[in-house]
Amino acid sequence: MVRINPDKPGASETTKPSELNTVLAAQRKAFNAQPNPDWTSRKAKLETLRDLILGHEAEFAAAISADFGNRAVEETIIAEILVIKGGISHALKHTPKWMKSRKAPVALQYKPAKNVIIPQPLGVIGIISPWNYPLQLAIMPLIGALGAGNRAMIKPSEYTPRMSQLLKEVLAKGFTDDEVFVATGGVDVASAFSSLKFDHLVFTGSTSVGRIVGKAAGENLVPVTLELGGKSPTIIDDSANMDIAIGRIANGKLLNAGQTCVAPDYVLMPQANINAFSEALIKKAEEFYPTVAGNDDYTSIIADAHYARLQDLLEDAENKGAKIQTAGDDDKQQLAKERRVPLTVVTDTTPDMKIMQEEIFGPLLPVVASETLDDALETVQQGERPLALYWFGEDKAKRDKVLSQSISGGVSINETAWHVVQEDIPFGGVGPSGMGAYHGEHGFKSFSHMKGVFIQSKFSQGKNLFPPYTEKTHKMLGLMKKFL
Ligand code: NAD
Repeated sequence: MVRINPDKPGASETTKPSELNTVLAAQRKAFNAQPNPDWTSRKAKLETLRDLILGHEAEFAAAISADFGNRAVEETIIAEILVIKGGISHALKHTPKWMKSRKAPVALQYKPAKNVIIPQPLGVIGIISPWNYPLQLAIMPLIGALGAGNRAMIKPSEYTPRMSQLLKEVLAKGFTDDEVFVATGGVDVASAFSSLKFDHLVFTGSTSVGRIVGKAAGENLVPVTLELGGKSPTIIDDSANMDIAIGRIANGKLLNAGQTCVAPDYVLMPQANINAFSEALIKKAEEFYPTVAGNDDYTSIIADAHYARLQDLLEDAENKGAKIQTAGDDDKQQLAKERRVPLTVVTDTTPDMKIMQEEIFGPLLPVVASETLDDALETVQQGERPLALYWFGEDKAKRDKVLSQSISGGVSINETAWHVVQEDIPFGGVGPSGMGAYHGEHGFKSFSHMKGVFIQSKFSQGKNLFPPYTEKTHKMLGLMKKFL
């Protein structure tokens, strides 16, 4: 998605760059004093985090709704609170196993030595999060960071100042600044934050800012997990159950009014099915949201500039010959006043339209003709590697072909978006949609140093390779070449 300057006031408090340095130094000092917290201490932190978030659920939902203009409490519970609760429960159940040292095999020539892998906390983890799911995307990396025994500093987005301030206040009730710290403020603070010498930096946001953050972190050789965006395709096969596909695509596209990194960005299907699909999708959207203006269930677009960006995408497509179909018949001025955009299906698109080039990040859905699976796969391969890919159908051979021949961060089959909240599989992008992954054990590993330890035996035969090199050495090397 194209980055836009915020047209909202910043958070009520702004963290000064000097404070960032002070907090980082304090976190590092505290970490060095206790570099490997035991499970009792990590468990207590995860439980504190859970209790703080759940204990302030209503305030978070209200703050997020105020930041957006409107967002249903239910959406905040579904997409933020429950995801966090699930992530913490999973971490509480499995971290004791993940944090154990484990034996690793030893190759024949090194026996009877032993190999061990020791997961070790990294130190201080930096977390930069976006506005679209402002609580979940700040807290999910924090769960991994704390479970892995680290300390963390968080910089939430300037587009959600109320939620950021609340997060700062709520986390301060259970954590000291040298354990977990929330920095607030605008891009200047975010920029200073990304230049700090963290032990690992997790950035969730746009690909364009991801490039800047990756560069800033690279200056300090800070390892990064980049959770970025992109255009996530949805392929609908002839074998799909259309009723099921329509409901799930409408839901995945309209949750948070399409302001979801893994929302279906565009649909690929045979031309002959496009009209029926578009009509049914519009009907489904009207069933979900009989009106859009004034409907508390329907999320507003975060800011005026983002609303204008979506209107611009539509205008550009229309000027270049696309057909636009909009759900409902709400008053346009009222919609604009509330920054609400109904589901809008865009057909007859061409590749030169901006809507086919940029991540949409709103409730506009191009439906593009693609006659065969090979055509669809070619379209996907020609684009940048997406964060998510969706395939609807029952034909297993085609499903397997999609899975083996397309590259995307993750996939949901006969569903949209829900692969993201599966704690037992990694979540992350590939190429321009991101690098690295987290959630569950994958987060634990991203925020740990998996230290390889070789324990030599007193019976080691390594002395046979000590200099000076003689005939005996050559015999030994010959034997090794034969048997390795
Ligand atoms: P953004 O890139 O504009 O901002 C993300 C964060 O970066 C914010 O906290 C912001 O303060 C900070 N930032 C801005 N400029 C910076 C700079 N120069 N240096 C350092 N930090 C800076 O993204 P956004 O608009 O908040 O979110 C939308 C984008 O995020 C979309 O592209 C979406 O696909 C992506 N996203 C990805 C995921 C994922 O998990 N992969 C999840 C949600 C959103």
